[in-house]
Amino acid sequence: MDEQTKEILNFLEQNYTPLTTLHLNEDKKTFLGSKDNQTCRFCGKSEPDVTFRKIAHAIPEFTGNKRLFSHYECDSCNEKVSSLMESHMANYMNIWHTFSQVRGKRGVPSFKTNAKKSRVDLLETGLNIQYHEGDEIIEIDKENKQIKITATRATYTPIAIYKCLTKIALTIMPENELDNFKNTLAWLFEEKHDESKYHLKALFLLFSFAPGIHPFDFQSCLLLKRKDNHKDNVPYMLFLLTYSNYAFQIYLPLCEMDKKLFGKEMTIKFIPTPIDLHDGINKIIRRKIDLSSTEPIKGEKESVTMEFGNMEEQEL
Ligand SMILES: [Zn+2]
Repeated sequence: MDEQTKEILNFLEQNYTPLTTLHLNEDKKTFLGSKDNQTCRFCGKSEPDVTFRKIAHAIPEFTGNKRLFSHYECDSCNEKVSSLMESHMANYMNIWHTFSQVRGKRGVPSFKTNAKKSRVDLLETGLNIQYHEGDEIIEIDKENKQIKITATRATYTPIAIYKCLTKIALTIMPENELDNFKNTLAWLFEEKHDESKYHLKALFLLFSFAPGIHPFDFQSCLLLKRKDNHKDNVPYMLFLLTYSNYAFQIYLPLCEMDKKLFGKEMTIKFIPTPIDLHDGINKIIRRKIDLSSTEPIKGEKESVTMEFGNMEEQEL
């Protein structure tokens, strides 16, 4: 372990204690909550006011989750979560998921270019890239065995991605902590992102990308809670979601326990992943992404460069 990792672990140890740790590396289904007397944790309603027919994914299905579900999300909230939050994060992550081969409901996402000629699909034999001359979206560097693909994202709203992650955090949170997050819940389920009664700034996602084939061969969720005798100005709760090649870290906004921190600078550091602990902090690519905007982003380009071992060319 390198010095930087040690320093961060020390910082976390002084300020936080793990509250919920879910490490999903076994092929079995886990349901949070109970099927008896179901009450929705998001709207507070029970049957017959709401129904619980759908299987609620505690972590969205598009991330490849087939293991963690909850009994305390009603069908109506489930639908809102899907349209208000999850669809945005799925649009954001799709190009990455194609390359990482993350399987959602309809398998690994494919993508086409705007002209809808070139396309990338995952087949049994590997990635299949149909490339049309003049569709300058795919650049192949045969000498260095690299391929750069530029895709256009479907429209997404940045704050909806932050909400999507916050919602997962509230799903895995112990019941007795929910009282501290009443405003957070109200904010999550506002019908329109751009007509909010909360004005949140500096909602940063700490995003990590670990290269390689499924370096995180599991899905995991972690909630860290601030210690009573914490040393630094840190937010009450941190959340980390890890799967495939990605780690997403946020703090949970609008927490009652953070009122005394209002207007003060908070210290937030990247939580080390198993790869940091093993190989040192520099192997991972990190980005701090501002997700505060409530405006939809249309036509955003994202490029992914990947290396390949073998390429077979076929004329179409
Ligand atoms: Zn509900």
